[in-house]
Amino acid sequence: MTQKQTKLDEIENKILANNVTPELASSATQLVFGSGNPDAQIVIIGEAPGKKEDLLGQPFVGAAGKFLDEMLGTIGFERKDIYITNIVKYRPPNNRDPLPEEKSAFLPYLESQLEVIRPKLIITLGRHSLNCFLPDLIISKVHGQLQKFNERFLLPLYHPAAALYNGGLRQTLIEDFRQIPLILSNIK
Ligand code: URA
Repeated sequence: MTQKQTKLDEIENKILANNVTPELASSATQLVFGSGNPDAQIVIIGEAPGKKEDLLGQPFVGAAGKFLDEMLGTIGFERKDIYITNIVKYRPPNNRDPLPEEKSAFLPYLESQLEVIRPKLIITLGRHSLNCFLPDLIISKVHGQLQKFNERFLLPLYHPAAALYNGGLRQTLIEDFRQIPLILSNIK
């Protein structure tokens, strides 16, 4: 196991030991911490696990994940080339939006994950993960536009679940996704 993976395992164990969001923990099947390559250049951050993610313990393994995999494929990436996680790491009941206090409870652990992986590019999916880092930005105004803050590079994208049922958003997301290789190569 790599040193980075060992450190990620420690963060996962801390979430359990610290009993983060006990109500969510008790209604969920399990913690969905994150998966993929700890040496990846890209970390993708979604909102919270859905039903299938909760059952399998892996992020983005349902319908939105399938669409995400297709888009990754169009730019020559596979899951093993990226690391993927969510801001909130337990499934909210009935897939409701995560509460502000749930997002802030998990933020220090997400920050620790990013400190270990040190990706070149953070990609946020949807407004919840974007606004954890840049609270004043509006996804419909900044999607597909690289943001630089605190020595970090962040690309806000629409959430694939929202795009699944909205043809216009779907096309926008596909087009934003296409820019990723160029954006990545322009980051020094
Ligand atoms: N939507 C998310 O935001 N995250 C997942 O893991 C699955 C669906």
